Amino acid sequence: MPDRADLVLYNANVITLDRRRPRAQAVAVRGDVIVGVGNLTRLEPLCGPDTRRIDCQGMTLLPGFVDAHCHLLALAASLTGVDCRPQVVTSIAALQHAIRIRAQQTPAGRWVRGFGYDELSLGEGRHPTRHDLDSAAPHYPVRLDHRSGHAVVLNSAALAMAGITQETPDPPEGVIQRDPPTGQPTGLLLELGEWLRERLGTLRDAPEMDEGVRRMESTLLGWGITSVQDAGPGNGLARWEAFRAQKDSGRLRCRVTMMAGCQHIPELQRAGLGFGSGDDSLRLGHAKLMLTLTTGQLHPAIKELRQAVALAHRAGFPVAIHAIEQEAVAAAAAVLGDQPTLSRSSPLPQRGVRGDFPRTPAQARDRIEHCAECPPALLTEVLRCGATVVTQPGFIYWNGDAYQQRVASELLPHLYPIAALRRAGVPVAFGSDAPVVDPNPWPAIYSAVTRRTSTGQQLPGQHSGEVTVAGALEMHSLQGAEAEGAGDGKGSIEAGKLADLVLVENDPTGMDPAGIIDLRAVITIIGGQVVWKR
Ligand SMILES: [Zn+2]
Repeated sequence: MPDRADLVLYNANVITLDRRRPRAQAVAVRGDVIVGVGNLTRLEPLCGPDTRRIDCQGMTLLPGFVDAHCHLLALAASLTGVDCRPQVVTSIAALQHAIRIRAQQTPAGRWVRGFGYDELSLGEGRHPTRHDLDSAAPHYPVRLDHRSGHAVVLNSAALAMAGITQETPDPPEGVIQRDPPTGQPTGLLLELGEWLRERLGTLRDAPEMDEGVRRMESTLLGWGITSVQDAGPGNGLARWEAFRAQKDSGRLRCRVTMMAGCQHIPELQRAGLGFGSGDDSLRLGHAKLMLTLTTGQLHPAIKELRQAVALAHRAGFPVAIHAIEQEAVAAAAAVLGDQPTLSRSSPLPQRGVRGDFPRTPAQARDRIEHCAECPPALLTEVLRCGATVVTQPGFIYWNGDAYQQRVASELLPHLYPIAALRRAGVPVAFGSDAPVVDPNPWPAIYSAVTRRTSTGQQLPGQHSGEVTVAGALEMHSLQGAEAEGAGDGKGSIEAGKLADLVLVENDPTGMDPAGIIDLRAVITIIGGQVVWKR
């Protein structure tokens, strides 16, 4: 019976995100693809004796979540490193204590790493220094990553290994903080993650990485996240192969689209890889570009940005530009607006690409990642440039209270302005930026709808009801798939699409938004396989 379904989920409240059929009661799957959506009576002819049946007991079935912007290996590393997040560590003394204990359990010669500290949440109100870390673990190289991913503190042993001394000049993209009287590095490095990686190589050893990936996988699947897009600006062939190895081992079943660091495009091309290469499980995505203001000036300058974008486009890659501040968003929009769009007929790279349309991304828009500050005049420019905005409503939830204190009141309504972007007609998708914040999609959906923070404060800038729960679900699934050019193949529950599904206890569209935060996955399915069960 080659055309019988392998799996039928029935007695479900199916939210399809397919406009032609928004709700259904049952879904049939053959192989890794959805073959029928409707009610059990209608799908019964597809079922045979070998069809596995799952009674969903009236619970709600959603398309699996797409996290359109995260940093997977950093997330994996953070899950095995010392947890220094504000909810765990509230002073430098506590941080030193945690580092000291980890050092005692660490074999000589290995790194001690901590993740997620926030200087504003430490009682001392400052970044730790090399000396703070030296006194906790004098005999180990120590690296501490800020929760933002944009700052790192090294102890003296680690600085020495990276060859960073008083004489080392600041690289153009970042800052080596120095002690004013002596000129000695304090250990704090701003926006130098990639630069550091070139000097130190990867700090992870294989067993630790495998364990981190295992924990990350269960975290992601436990939230019903079935596709992730890795936004590493330094992603190249080595990273691609690392993902490939994790895929081959079976540890990483969540679908991964790896963006390509712009510098690494030539090396990827030499290996026969281009935009869209790979398969449904691991695919090469947009070219990632950083556009920062850390040193006070745009880096890269507009002219170099324009060149980099043109280069990526010529190589067949749409681009994803990291732009947070207004100046950066304006520059990104200006440059993208000037570019001729990628031709729809541009040939796809052939190696490793499955030819079974519509699963291979034929085309994707350029993207602006974050777009955190976007007042109305700038919004017009963003619309005009034709880019998708991939933004982080989770930041409203986790960081909103700090924004309320630190961001100018006239800018506050235009911070992560999801409703305004949608109203203007800009395509918007959601990503967590994990490990910067937790990848849990529910607080992000709650804040997208309510504009409330984790303590219930409400940021201005959105009318009640303007972003619906269904709209937010769509931005966290279908729009995320669209953002990587794969919207024809996944992201909603429709016949012909990949069977990536998540079952949750309650219907998020039918409850008080405050309850959304506590929703949990019951079952997560990727390509028709149950990959996670509560
Ligand atoms: Zn990011």
